[in-house]
Amino acid sequence: LAERLQSTLQKIRGKGKVTEADVKAMMREVRLALLYADVNLKVVKDFIQRVSERAVGQEVMKSLTPGQQVIKVVKEELTALMGGEAEKLAVSDKPPTVIMMVGLQGAGKTTTSGKLANLLRKKYNRTPLLVAADIYRPAAVSQLQTLGKQLGVPVYSSEENADPVEIAKQALKKAAEEHYDTVIIDTAGRLHVDERLMDELKNMKEAVDPDEILLVVDAMTGQDAVNVAERFSGQLGITGVVLTKLDGDTRGGAALSIRAVTNKPIKFVGMGEKLDALEPFHPERMASRILGMGDVLTLIEKAQAAVDEEKAKELEKKMRTMSFTLNDFLEQLNQVRKMGPLQELLKMLPGAGRIKGLDNLEISEKQLKHVEAIIQSMTPEERENPEIINSSRRKRIAKGSGRPVQEVNRLLKQFDEMKKMMKQLSNMQKGKKKGGFPF
Ligand code: GDP
Ligand code: MG
Repeated sequence: LAERLQSTLQKIRGKGKVTEADVKAMMREVRLALLYADVNLKVVKDFIQRVSERAVGQEVMKSLTPGQQVIKVVKEELTALMGGEAEKLAVSDKPPTVIMMVGLQGAGKTTTSGKLANLLRKKYNRTPLLVAADIYRPAAVSQLQTLGKQLGVPVYSSEENADPVEIAKQALKKAAEEHYDTVIIDTAGRLHVDERLMDELKNMKEAVDPDEILLVVDAMTGQDAVNVAERFSGQLGITGVVLTKLDGDTRGGAALSIRAVTNKPIKFVGMGEKLDALEPFHPERMASRILGMGDVLTLIEKAQAAVDEEKAKELEKKMRTMSFTLNDFLEQLNQVRKMGPLQELLKMLPGAGRIKGLDNLEISEKQLKHVEAIIQSMTPEERENPEIINSSRRKRIAKGSGRPVQEVNRLLKQFDEMKKMMKQLSNMQKGKKKGGFPF
């Protein structure tokens, strides 16, 4: 990423001063990118506002390399939004330190318990005891026992005891007697947050007085993870979050939103199924990841380079006055095309790997060409007044463009709908500035 950042900055540097309009345009793209990265809408709004305020101010204008400043501000604010510094695990003065792992089913509690025991022992020289307090899921206890065996970390479980709170208490006793300095309790999860789960966890919290209650959430669940975090934080109280499954092309946006919404630090991230794939959370690295993922910076660059400000303004005026024609439509398409092949463009968006059918986009690129061919087969008069295109004209256009009549029909219908939509839009936000990208 560092390299990519560097090269992008180099390009911006060549551009000279960044104006207020530039900052606005960049923020529009950053906003889009954050939303694609699955960042909570309100968080995005606040963020953009804060960055714009800082960026448009003197700080940027005075600077010799304004573009560099803007990106720096974006990254700094992203980092701050995620807590700034990496947060350490709490350690009890009076051993053992008790860590409760909570979260929904499948989030990765059991795996993370094992990973955490492994990390604490290897890196911090601690002697952890794992506790199997998930007695509801049939294989949960043996799952943890298997992990313990693999790691050589003892696992406390109880066959006769059917009460998770009792199990936890017994485990604490054992830890005190046998001098384990850290107790990691793997609790039961449910498919959804419900009252019984919360009550049980509250009881356990009261019984073991944990130093840490770590909420384990699956980063791949995006906004759901944020909702879950909000509820656990509000109802049970948590001390931190572990974000799992950040390997693969997960959108990092959840990290941002969780921190902003709950104000609880993310302490670790899970980067794979292996037992050493747990890392302390570094806000700055995550900011880079969010910025770098999908190469947002390059996207911003391209967008800025391709969209001719004057043309965009003219287009906007036309939209408002409803004199938008097929000619303008063609112009708009060309603007988008200038930014490069659509497929390549979309790939740059964070989370694009998860967009279904991205592989089919070549078709879309082809479709764009077809649309262009159809419009080019119209007479200037037809482009200005599509109403006059009757069925014989449609046939002629189809022939001229080498496309079936149905496709001509579809295009005209789409254009008509687009005009209607614009009318609604312009009624809704008279005078307000709109972006020029039709995606
Ligand atoms: P629990 O129900 O919350 O205890 O979840 P588990 O610990 O049983 O994990 C559910 C699944 O997620 C398992 O298949 C794990 O291997 C997987 N998993 C957990 N953490 C990660 C991670 O960081 N990356 C990946 N790729 N998979 C993970
Ligand atoms: Mg489990």
